[in-house]
Amino acid sequence: MNNKRIYLSSPHMGHMEKLFVNEAFDTNWVAPLGPNVNNFELELAEYVGAKSAAALVSGTSAIHLALKAIDMKKGDRIFCTSLTFAASCNPVMYEDGELVFIDSERDSWNMSPIALEKAFKKSEEEGKLPKAVIVVHLYGQSADMDRIINICNKYNTPIIEDAAESLGATYKGRQTGTIGEYGIYSFNGNKIITTSGGGMLVSKNEKKIEKARFWATQSRDNARHYQHTELGYNYRMSNIVAGIGRGQLRVLDERIAQKKHIFERYFIGFKDIEDIEMMPICEYGEPNYWLSCMTIKEGSKVSPLDIILALEEENIESRPIWKPMHMQPYYEKFDFFTDNNDGISVAEDIFNRGLCLPSDTKMTEEEIDKVINIVKKCFTK
Ligand SMILES: *Cc1c(COP(=O)(O)O)cnc(C)c1O
Repeated sequence: MNNKRIYLSSPHMGHMEKLFVNEAFDTNWVAPLGPNVNNFELELAEYVGAKSAAALVSGTSAIHLALKAIDMKKGDRIFCTSLTFAASCNPVMYEDGELVFIDSERDSWNMSPIALEKAFKKSEEEGKLPKAVIVVHLYGQSADMDRIINICNKYNTPIIEDAAESLGATYKGRQTGTIGEYGIYSFNGNKIITTSGGGMLVSKNEKKIEKARFWATQSRDNARHYQHTELGYNYRMSNIVAGIGRGQLRVLDERIAQKKHIFERYFIGFKDIEDIEMMPICEYGEPNYWLSCMTIKEGSKVSPLDIILALEEENIESRPIWKPMHMQPYYEKFDFFTDNNDGISVAEDIFNRGLCLPSDTKMTEEEIDKVINIVKKCFTK
């Protein structure tokens, strides 16, 4: 096999990353912290329009510190989108919490306000309201925040936005991650921009972001000797990693345009294939198109796995939709609220019929055509 591999979403560097990293080397600011970290925080906060930001080692650690920031305690209940990557809810277990999973809605594949309302009603009956709601913006498209906020406000419950996949996406003109009390971003290897690994916590609450930086550096009290009055973590981003982030931020808009182009190529390419539906795009915002996803119509003779295998045969990477959290062996003991009252849940249905197509911004036009043709062939043969 001599054809070069086509990836789902691989790192794509711009021209400035090395400059910032070299600067760190030249000034021996390899560690600790340093100007790249401070500037990456400022530049990202400015880009998304957040008041303040803390650069961390991962999106997961950012969610963990967001839970600490809302003062989550052992046994507290947290609501979370079910159709997501496990990192959205794993930090709830680090703090010994109790999860309740919320189904998706058809229109956006994101948290269903109907299911959310049901979960709140049940929690109210039980006399145990959630401490926070983790809302995920799946595959780069915002959830319907106004409807979700309306419900959360009725119960005075803060929102943590998991915008790990949606950096740069907007909802009614506002950046995802800046709409709830806290927002998190991830710069893991296959996200729209990457620092090789990293994350960011943002908020309007500057004091809490300051506190998050304190927790992230082992909660060292302001004393010459090493003194700790609180439990700490080693969660801070390094000055080298932040240098990559500063460079990547400068190509984010370009990457979004490239991702959108890929999505539109698929959309047009599959127009005449009845059985294919691309992920719905909602009018309330502009996604970052991180991954181009599709579902196969019910009753089709083709399954997502058929397509994944046909692509793999040609050395092309694709993957299934996230397996919903309420279906995970580790998480199935927790409650789950559905969008509809009959049949299987929307999240499970999307998981059964969907897949993520290669969405790598390094793909050439010919490579996009190749993917389209392989997928089409699955339906026409
Ligand atoms: C990638 C991802 C995370 C975790 O980010 P890391 O930086 O890998 O820790 C969290 N939530 C979602 C939805 C993600 O896709």
